[in-house]
Amino acid sequence: MNSQHEDVIAVDAIAPAEVGELDKQQRREKIYTRAMEGYFQRLRLYTGWPLLLGYFVLPWLMLRDRQAVLFDLSVRKFHVLNLTFWPQDLVLLAFILIIAAFALFAVTAVWGRLWCGYTCPQTVWTAIFMYIEQRFEGSRNQRIKLDQEPLSWRKLRKKTLKHCGWALVAALTGVTFIGYFVPIRQLLPELLSFSADPGALSFVLLFSVATYLNAGYLREKVCTDMCPYAKFQSVMFDKNTLVVTYNAERGEPRGSRKRFGTKDPHQGDCIDCELCVQVCPTGIDIRAGLQYECIGCALCIDACDSIMAKMGSPKGLVSYTSENALAGRQTRVLTPKTLGYVAALVVMTTLFSLSLFNRSSVELSVSRDRGQLFLPAPQGLIDNVYELHLTNRSDQIETYRIEVEGMAQVAILGGDTITVLAGDLLEFGIRLRADPKLLPLPGTPILFRAVSTSYAADTAEAESRFIRPTL
Ligand code: SF4
Ligand code: SF4
Repeated sequence: MNSQHEDVIAVDAIAPAEVGELDKQQRREKIYTRAMEGYFQRLRLYTGWPLLLGYFVLPWLMLRDRQAVLFDLSVRKFHVLNLTFWPQDLVLLAFILIIAAFALFAVTAVWGRLWCGYTCPQTVWTAIFMYIEQRFEGSRNQRIKLDQEPLSWRKLRKKTLKHCGWALVAALTGVTFIGYFVPIRQLLPELLSFSADPGALSFVLLFSVATYLNAGYLREKVCTDMCPYAKFQSVMFDKNTLVVTYNAERGEPRGSRKRFGTKDPHQGDCIDCELCVQVCPTGIDIRAGLQYECIGCALCIDACDSIMAKMGSPKGLVSYTSENALAGRQTRVLTPKTLGYVAALVVMTTLFSLSLFNRSSVELSVSRDRGQLFLPAPQGLIDNVYELHLTNRSDQIETYRIEVEGMAQVAILGGDTITVLAGDLLEFGIRLRADPKLLPLPGTPILFRAVSTSYAADTAEAESRFIRPTL
């Protein structure tokens, strides 16, 4: 997203003197990143755009007559395409979180902070906000100067436009996020006509403000000071992990030199132009070694590669490499650690798939009528009354046959079939009639079973008792 051409360093601007005193003074207080183009930035663009598009488009997709992805907290139902999840499916959510964690561990062990640099929402949204900043306030040096200028109409106009741009993106992000929980086709018109539910409106505002502050102001501080993953991800690193590294052996001793000029054999390849520092969104100097603030965005690789190309030196002074590769050893992807992560991933994914495909789409619970243990009925028979809670978790209207097991010659009064709407919970009473003389115990254990009439494998059971008077 950092694509402003005027901000990309020019061949003639590589001497250390060009860095400017402004940079050194300003770096610690506020980071003014220089836009950079290059191979890895194109890669980030290609990964960032599909994710952004997915985020903004997904809530607008419809499946039959409902939103395809909707976490409807009001009725405690989560719709993901043609699957509907209920609170009882919480174990599946736990599986998803564990699978995501192991996938992240495996990726981090091999490719370092790939998630942080390419796909983390904080990184992606910060890149959008930086792009807007550059559009309205100009290149890095222009922004530094603008901030130092006294207030003027020109400065006010540029700042206002930037903040309007940020606010627009933040608001769209907030509305979209809440649109995953409240049907977005209903939410947006309500918001525009000021008739939205106050609860939904508060959450839209909360999420919009959080986006505005995180991507506009906090930026790298979220990664360096707030994100817990940044703190413990180094535990997953080993000598084979690919990390953004400065090749000090090749680069040192650093110092300026003429372009394509004869190089002092004792001098390293780094010309100390500090472009790698100027492009770094977290404001660190990769030449100081691996630092936890480095999010692996590879901006410094593209920056240094552009300098090396201009100096006529081979690229890769700053590169993705492993400690083993730097030491001339082979980088191994399949280490015991990565194999362990992959094995855990396979086990968890298998368990998740089994749980998902074996889960029943019907649920049944039974409670006895607490008013009376039994009711007398004609011809010496007795009745027991129960309340059944039958949930149809499928996506279509379903008819169930109610069966009772555990008693001979039991009659279900009022019919033994019941129809439940798609995704609905039906509570209904049922009366069983039996001959007490045929029951061996005062409290006979019985089993209620609801069997789908369209798909017999969809059944649910619930236990209860049939009470008779003492004979
Ligand atoms: S050091 Fe390089 S890879 Fe790390 S955050 Fe800075 S620019 Fe990105
Ligand atoms: S590592 Fe590359 S970009 Fe950084 S100062 Fe040295 S030559 Fe410049």
